[in-house]
Amino acid sequence: MPLSRDPQRLEPSVRARLQALRRLASQRGLSFILTSTLRTAPEQEALYAQGRRPLQEVNALRARAGLEPITEAENRIVTWTKVSMHQFGLAFDVALLDEGGRPHWELAKDTNGNGRPDYLELGELGEAAGLQWGGRFSSPDYCHFQYTGGLSLQELLQGRRPGEPSPAEGPPQGAAPEPRARTITHFIRRFLACFPLRP
Ligand SMILES: [Zn+2]
Repeated sequence: MPLSRDPQRLEPSVRARLQALRRLASQRGLSFILTSTLRTAPEQEALYAQGRRPLQEVNALRARAGLEPITEAENRIVTWTKVSMHQFGLAFDVALLDEGGRPHWELAKDTNGNGRPDYLELGELGEAAGLQWGGRFSSPDYCHFQYTGGLSLQELLQGRRPGEPSPAEGPPQGAAPEPRARTITHFIRRFLACFPLRP
């Protein structure tokens, strides 16, 4: 079984923000697909092992998590965290679509021709929709969005979840810094962190 891409498996507060992001993106002529939503703890453990443990061990963990095996070439780091917001249904990963409707992972691509790279534009739209964008993380994860409602990891592990969405909620005040300028190579390398799926 592949990782879940089902938006229904997200917490309602996150799903509402995803819908808001879809609306904002479509107003800008941007389309995206979901590549990962909810992950189980065994799935995250198997993904974390990827690129860090030998292939045989990774595939044993993947089998235990109900995931199909990967090849040696695919045994690369795809996640930076042992515990992921995906496990709580609070995060999703996206892939933007190019002019032909195919998923792409190019930081410089500007399909809507407004002079803003699509991934950065989508990240800002996600923030406008009340989401945290992985592009701001210290190890940037440009395809990742999450919403924790201010709950700590400890609280989440205790089973607490953010409340229902407040539609009026906008981006945080005090404006997050612009993502640092990065080379395409950097982006492509980092991008692997948000591409745990086989095409
Ligand atoms: Zn993610």
